This record gives sequence, structure tokens and C-alpha cells, in this order.
Amino acid sequence: TKQIYAFSEGNMSMRDLLGGKGANLAEMTNLGLPVPHGFTLTTEACHRYQETGSLSSELLTELDEALATLSQTTGKQFNGDTQPLLVSVRSGAAISMPGMMDTILNIGLNDQTVVALATLTNNERFAYDSYRRLLAMFGNVVYNIEEETFDHVLTDLKQQKGYDSDLELTADDLKQIVADFKAIYQAAGKGEFPQSPKDQLLAAVNAVFESWNNHRAQVYRQQNHISESLGTAVNVQEMVFGNAGEQSGTGVAFTRNPASGEKKVFGEYLLNAQGEDVVAGIRTPETIEVLKDAMPVIYDQLMGIAEKLENHYQDMQDLEFTIENGKLFLLQARDGKRTPYAAVKIAVDQVGEGLITKEQALKRVSPESVSAMLHPEFDETDLGQHTKLTTGLPASPGAATGRAYFTAEDAKRASDGGEQVILIRQDTSPEDIEGMIVSQAIVTSRGGMTSHAAVVARGMGATGVVGAHEITVDYAGKVAKVGDQVIHEGDWVSVDGTTGNLYLGQINTTPAGVKGELSTLLDWAKDVAKMGVYTNADTPQDFQKALDFDADGIGLTRTEHMFFKPERLLQMRRLILATDAKGRRDPLSQLLQMQQEDFYQLYKLAGDKEVTIRLLDPPLHEFLPHDEAEIQIVANQIQETPERLRERITSLKELNPMLGHRGDRLAVTFPDIYQMQVKAIMSAVIRLNDEGLEVHPHIMIPLTDSRDEMSWVRDLVTDQIQQMVNNSGIRVDYTVGTMMEMPRACVTADQIAEVSDFFSFGTNDLTQLTFGYSRDDVGSFMPEYIKQGILPADPFQTIDTQGVGALMEIAITKGRQTNPELPIGVCGEVGGDPASIEFFNQIGITYVSCSPYRVPVARLAAAQATL
Ligand code: ADP
Ligand code: MG
Ligand code: MG
Repeated sequence: TKQIYAFSEGNMSMRDLLGGKGANLAEMTNLGLPVPHGFTLTTEACHRYQETGSLSSELLTELDEALATLSQTTGKQFNGDTQPLLVSVRSGAAISMPGMMDTILNIGLNDQTVVALATLTNNERFAYDSYRRLLAMFGNVVYNIEEETFDHVLTDLKQQKGYDSDLELTADDLKQIVADFKAIYQAAGKGEFPQSPKDQLLAAVNAVFESWNNHRAQVYRQQNHISESLGTAVNVQEMVFGNAGEQSGTGVAFTRNPASGEKKVFGEYLLNAQGEDVVAGIRTPETIEVLKDAMPVIYDQLMGIAEKLENHYQDMQDLEFTIENGKLFLLQARDGKRTPYAAVKIAVDQVGEGLITKEQALKRVSPESVSAMLHPEFDETDLGQHTKLTTGLPASPGAATGRAYFTAEDAKRASDGGEQVILIRQDTSPEDIEGMIVSQAIVTSRGGMTSHAAVVARGMGATGVVGAHEITVDYAGKVAKVGDQVIHEGDWVSVDGTTGNLYLGQINTTPAGVKGELSTLLDWAKDVAKMGVYTNADTPQDFQKALDFDADGIGLTRTEHMFFKPERLLQMRRLILATDAKGRRDPLSQLLQMQQEDFYQLYKLAGDKEVTIRLLDPPLHEFLPHDEAEIQIVANQIQETPERLRERITSLKELNPMLGHRGDRLAVTFPDIYQMQVKAIMSAVIRLNDEGLEVHPHIMIPLTDSRDEMSWVRDLVTDQIQQMVNNSGIRVDYTVGTMMEMPRACVTADQIAEVSDFFSFGTNDLTQLTFGYSRDDVGSFMPEYIKQGILPADPFQTIDTQGVGALMEIAITKGRQTNPELPIGVCGEVGGDPASIEFFNQIGITYVSCSPYRVPVARLAAAQATL
């Protein structure tokens, strides 16, 4: 099969074969945009290389042909003494991994062609500047010589000559640097720098194929869940020169602002510079607005291309461009990485502009990124108490507080030790990736909005501030300074990525709400989704939060959480320790008062939204004290002897409490507890009825195994309801349903549905019982299972579709055989997990219920599941 495609032969649909960069270079070539000529070695060629460790002879033959064609179209030749052909060798996988793999520029330069290039361009400085760049990149990528070794030579010479910037280096300086770089090869035992352009090219291609497996690329793929088996393509492209003088430059542009989403081309560039100079933060670049005045024709052309590309790809694009002697070239286009805020704003705006549909917009935003948008902002009053240290560019929004570290390794170590860290650096590079992943925020003193630090922070949803010039970082001394203010390693700092401000000290944060474009997007999601999204809430505060996020109601109230307050715990303990019904009477009536107030508050808040209340679930011993000191205190409180208390604790102790005397089993042995809870619910309902609010209580029974058990508990509950209804004389529509969390219940769901008005899958217990994993103890082995690939994911976080999911399907089918209208929900942890929600939508779940902060995430996931 063909392993090399000219740019003119490919298109954007060939991403798997040509990689993202290659496919888009081809697409842009065919759109008639000014893209330097070139060709792509396919990912297929990379696979073959990975198998054999060398370039096949077929590939080498194709490469010769491709080079011959490139010579013809460009009119330049390898080793040419008047028109030397220079190329870049650029990696590019199917999924973009910015800065992760290697690229070498200026291949084809050697001791002869550098002279030819100088003569041709009448610019010796430029020719040697290109040569020294080749030597450094080639040495680093092909021979693994540290970049710093080359940087040192440059820095030393600049210092010696008293230069501030690379731009002051003269042609003679650069010749000296070239000689010094060659000496570095010798010193590293690599011999002569290969003079043959062809040899350079082959070595570069080999190195790029190898770079697929370098450490930082592997870390990036793990972090971003990119498959190891994709492989990378290699692009070979004629060089254009941004370092050819003051009418030349290189830059990057986003068709919209990647941090805020504003519809306005956002870009940065550097004159007389090449390749990565903008991204590396070596000099702080100019903004694209400056280009408008400096080179108006180029600026207009770039704006036109930006618009054309955005319309063509129907999404915000990230572009690389180079200007060579007043002529514009495009070197890359890809869907631009953006903050969650920008993702939402751009998607909603593009619907308004008629560029995409609502459905497309809903697909553009990842549900997890919505969760990042709900992250906290600084508390206004606390913020007022802190003085601002300095301000940089607001590269990635959010509010973060943590301890300062100045190297990736130190940040990683501190984070592994449980600290919340903020990475402060002059600039960052791909080697820093592990330290960046663990940081709450990334701050740099150099570089612009498209610098490596800014791009990575946005990609990860971390807070980012870059180009804060006033900061100087002293890596050796482990301090950073702003004027005479000093930040020592480990000091608390706070970073606001929306304003770009940096503060000393720890600042409190408050949760952000759903507003603006996000609220529009979530409204669309609600229209499109088939499943409802409810919340798990035990307190009015939690419920209010969920209502702010537009939850449909409460899918699960865990009433036991209402007992774990000191005053209530006391009554609960009296109840458990009582020996007869008479002794239980007083604590029960006290608890009744409190519970009634709890339910009243929840129903009142709910208005006409539905609330499902689950009756007491945990084993009784959880309410009793555990150590001797506590036993003394509690015995005193409840006026019991410590002996009797100890006896009772022993008698309630179980070997497997989670499989023991809990849930509806308590109802059978202590019916008055459930009766009390139902009474409390009904009193609240009746009270609200008097106030003019009609409530339909939904009562849920935990841990049901069988029809007969459910039937018994149901009678207990409905008798109590009936009694209350009769006494009050009002009409109440209510339902009594069951949790589905026992495998036995799932396989007998047809019978259980005869006595159950609804089901709600408790996936935590169901997963525990299906796997036979104690959910409280899985930490000791689960990580190893995932690492070894025995489990694809933690089944307590993402539903196990094959096992637990199959049981759910049985239960749904059987339950609806009995009652076709049976509402069926999910209220476990996975109710807020996007991958699980997709599955639930498929199997006919009516609604999911999740913690308040997951509600917007689940809403979007539920909409995406239908698209
Ligand atoms: P990455 O994937 O890390 O962005 P690229 O392959 O895009 O790496 O290249 C790195 C830099 O070199 C980019 O700024 C790019 O625009 C520039 N570059 C690549 N090829 C050429 C070329 N043929 N002429 C001029 N600049 C180039
Ligand atoms: Mg690039
Ligand atoms: Mg349960």
C-alpha cells in the first residue's frame, strides 16, 4: 500500500492515515490557501516502523519519488548550490498532542548550502541563524542532547557581548555558535553533524517515529485517554522563513478568543523569528492588533483566511502562520483548544450565527468540562482583605489557591505528599507536563496567551496566568520575587485566571453558578434529553444548590444523614437502647418532630417538583459509639450504665454489616422506626396541604430482595399513610417504590413490580453485590485491576455494562412486563457519570439522580445520549 501522500492528494477526512496535521495541510492546500508544498508519511508507515524498528525499502523508494516531485514543484534541490531545498520534518498524530512530539526545521542545511542560502538571500545572518537552529533541534531530537546544552552557548555569548536579545547576534556570532554546536556533537560522542541532507532527513524521520514512544508523549496520552496504538504520521514540508528579516515573522492565531470565547481573532506573533519562538516564550510576542498597523495587507489576508477556515471547519481554529519577506504562509490549522467557558460561549454563539445547529452545539461541549465551570470563584469579601501582588495575562479562568513551587518535580513531589500546589515558573516546556497536571494553577513570568503554559492550562481546565513580567523566579534559591516581596517555596498564593491577578496568601472560594451561555446550552439540553435529571439531596442547602442547577426534583433523600447530628444522635441512641415499645415512645416522638420539620423544608423548597424519600437504610450499630471514651460520654448522656451500653453494642455487632441487619430488614424487626418516618412525611404533607401546596409523596424502600418482603413493608407504610389520611380528611396521591440493589430483586423484578410503584437502581450496592466487592475496601486492589487491564474502569464510577448493566436490563424488561408504565431511575454514584448515562439512555431508564454539582453534567450527558 501507498505510504506517502502529497498534500495535494489528501483531505481532512483522512485524519487516521495522515494524522491531524497532515490531513489539514492537505485540506488547506486543496482550498487554495498559501501552504508550503510537502508530503506526508502515513501512520501506517509508523506502524511498520514500530514493528520492525527500521524504515522499509518500499518506503524509502516512495520517499525518493516524493522528494523528486517536491524538487520539481519548488524548483529547489537537496544540496543545491543556487536553490537549496530545505524542509521541516513534523510529527502529527490523528489526535493532536500539542508540543508533545518532535519537529525539526531547516533540514538540508550543511556547510555548503548555508553559504548558498546566504548568497541567494543576500543575508548571511539569516542563513547562519537557520543553521544553528537546525543543529540544536537535530542534536536534541535525534541524539537526545539536552536542549539546555545548546541554550547555554547562546546565553553565554549574549552575556559576554552584553546583548539583551537573540536579535542582536551578528552573522559572525552565529558562525561561532554553529562551530560551538558542532563541538557539542563531538563532545557528546556523536561525531560529525551529518552533512548529507538525505541522511539528515532519514535520521529525522526515524526520530519522529521513535518520539511516539517518548516519556512525555506517553504521559500526555494517558492523561488524555489517547490510544497507544494510533501512531504518528510525519510531514515533510518546504521551509518558509520567518527569520529572514524585519519583513518576516512567525505567529499563531485563534479564530476566536480561546480563554473567553469572544468572537474576535486572537493572535500573537514575533518578527524575525522562527517556529516555536512564540510558543516557547523566549521573547514576549506582539498581539495581532499590532500587526494590523505594521503589515495591514498581511493582516487583512490573515483575517480573511481565519473566517474562511472557521466557516469551512464549522469550528474555532488554531492557526500557525509565517510571514517571509512580506508574504503570508499557513503552516497548520486545527480545532482550537479552549477553556470550558470558551467552549460553551463559542458553541452557543455559533448557533446564533447560523453556523451550527443546537444539536451540534450540544455535542461540542464535554460534560466533564461543564463541571470545571462550576468550580469556585474567590469570595469577594475575603479577596478584599488580600493585596494584589501583580497581574499577568488571564490565560485560563478559575480561582485557585495553593502552595508555590518552582519546578515541575518539586510540584509533583509536594502534590504526591497531599499538598495543593501552584506552579510558578519563568516559562514551561513539555518536560514540565507531570508537574503541570498536579497543579491547581500555573503562573509564568514570560510568554503570551499562546505560550505552552497557557495552552496546557486551558487544555486541562487548570487556572492559568502567564507573562506576569514583574515576577522573577530564582530556581536555585527556590524563591520568586515581585519588587521586594518574596514568595518562598511552600508559601500560600492565590491565582485568579479570569483577571490575571496573583495574591499572597490563601483566599476562600465560593461556588460559581450556572449563568449566561451555559444556562442557554443547558436549556437546550433539557429539551433534547429523554431522561430526567434529579438530585440526591439530604438537606435544604444541597437541594437549593441542585435547584439552582435546574434539577427536576429529588431522586433520593437518604434519611439516615438526617440522624447524624448530635441532638438527633442522642435520641437515636435512646431509641436503639430501649428494651420495649414503651421505652421507645419518647425518643420516637422527639425524632418525629425533627423529621417532620426536615421533610416540610424539603417539600416546601420543591414546590411542584417531585421528591423521593428513602426510609432508614444503615445498620443500627452505626449510630452507637465505637471506643471506650465515647462509651463513657454517651452512657452518661443517656443515663445508662457503660456495661449495658457495651452489651448492646456487642449484640448489634455484625461480621458483615453491609450484608446484615439494615434497610427494610430493620422495618421487619423495628416497625416503629419506619412508621415514625412515614408519620413525619405525612405530617409535613398535611401541613403543606393546609398552606395550599399539594404534595405527592414518593416513599422508597431500600434493600428489597423479594415480592413478599416488599409487600410486607409496603403494607406497613400504606397502613400508616391511610391512618394519617383518614384522620386529616384530605386526599393524598402517593407512591411506594423500591430500590433495586439486590441481584435477587433484579431477576424477580416482574414479581416485585406487582407491589412497587417505581424502581430506582442503587448501583453502589448492586455493583458491590454483583462483583462481590466490598465497596468500602476496594481501594486495596482496584487500582491494580485497572492498571493490569483486568477492569476497564472502576465499576463504582462507571457502570459495568456487561455484568451490572445486564442485571439492570433484566430488571427493566421484567418490571415493565408487569407494569409497562413503571418509572425506573438510577440513584447511585454513576448517575452523574457521562459514560454511564449514555448506557442508561439506551436501556430505557426514566431518570438519573446525582449529587447537586453533577446535575448540569448529567443534563448535558443525557442530551448527548440522544444525539
Ligand atoms: P507542533 O506539533 O509541536 O506544533 P509543528 O510541526 O507544528 O510542531 O512545528 C513547530 C513549529 O515550526 C511551528 O511553529 C511551525 O509553524 C513551524 N514550522 C513547521 N514547519 C515549517 C516550515 N516548513 N516552514 C516554516 N515553519 C515551519
Ligand atoms: Mg504546530
Ligand atoms: Mg443501597
